[in-house]
Amino acid sequence: MDKFIPLSVPNFEGNERKYVDDAVDKVWVSTGGSYVDRFECELAKYLQVENVAVCQSGTSALHLSLIEANVSLGDIVLVSPLTFIAAVNPIKYQHATPVFIDCDDSFCLDPIKLESFCKTECEWDGNLLKYRNYHVKALVVIHVFGNMADMEAIMDIAHYYNLIVIEDATEALGTKYIEGKYKGKFAGTIGDFGAFSFNGNKIITTGGGGAVTSNVSSKVEHMRFLSTQAKTDPHYYIHDEIGYNYRMTNLQAALGVAQLEELPVFIKRKQHNYDVYLNSFKDCEYCWILPFRKGISSNKWFYSLFINRERIKTPIIKIIESLKEKNIETRPIWGLINEQKPYQEEVTYLLEKSQFYASRILNIPCSTNITTEEINYVSETIKRLLGDFANE
Ligand SMILES: *Cc1c(COP(=O)(O)O)cnc(C)c1O
Repeated sequence: MDKFIPLSVPNFEGNERKYVDDAVDKVWVSTGGSYVDRFECELAKYLQVENVAVCQSGTSALHLSLIEANVSLGDIVLVSPLTFIAAVNPIKYQHATPVFIDCDDSFCLDPIKLESFCKTECEWDGNLLKYRNYHVKALVVIHVFGNMADMEAIMDIAHYYNLIVIEDATEALGTKYIEGKYKGKFAGTIGDFGAFSFNGNKIITTGGGGAVTSNVSSKVEHMRFLSTQAKTDPHYYIHDEIGYNYRMTNLQAALGVAQLEELPVFIKRKQHNYDVYLNSFKDCEYCWILPFRKGISSNKWFYSLFINRERIKTPIIKIIESLKEKNIETRPIWGLINEQKPYQEEVTYLLEKSQFYASRILNIPCSTNITTEEINYVSETIKRLLGDFANE
């Protein structure tokens, strides 16, 4: 195929230009302006929550959550290591300490290992959970690739041990439970805090941007206040707290309002394209598409192609480079965060699945505007290439 097939690109088919032009025409380009409020309202309506604050990035949404949760020096935050580093760095911004707990087959935090860590490695006095004199205060639960973590089990454990749950739903806008205790609930609206991202590669984008919500509306209000330099008085420069310049701009929000209108269509296409891929790899012995959790409707943001290491020994990087020569962009799953330089000294707990999957997952093209013809070209090319590698 002559055309380059990218991994994941934004799709502006709706009112993007109209709303951005409108914002420019009205000369409201910064953090004031009606699109900011409108995007917040529309997001809250979509997510069926009371209050949402929009901000500069998913990273700042996570940071605001940790600040609002009072996570600070001497606290531990439990998190899984098979993720993008932005899920973990804000723990360090707060001078707290991450402890890495393994993921399950969904790539999300494993509730069984989470519970065994709390039970066997920590001291519990009925109020505080302690690990080596640190207070285990919170969890960051990442809904990886649009999957849903096992929130039923995780929330039970968190309630029992008084742990604050911060959901990193940056990849999972629109993913929701369709059965069980949380039926109808969206990723990011189950725990104490939920963070979303509108970076260029996410399911909807504002260029760069994010949003944060909480089950306590006044906490969202306070995070919004912190995101605007904690200005106490509308007229005078009175600041009673340390604030941040984290507020989303009106230009970004104009894009966001347009993108949110298209989200249901984007999700439908992602789900449909997932089925096409699933079907084309279903009888392949070299690789196959991994499922999403049962009982949820996933936004199917990213597709995980599992490389069968019984048959294919070729390093991921070589597979990626060979596909690039065929005009197909793919990427490996992330390197484990506990292996990154700033985190090598941190405690890890029973890491097996995260290590297993780290060398076996390839993300394949998943843009909302990819055609069925392109999907077929991608799957046939991958099958042929891996067939060649298998016989080497
Ligand atoms: C994208 C992403 C983030 C950060 O979002 P930004 O908007 O890029 O700051 C955090 N966590 C995960 C898992 C992500 O994929």
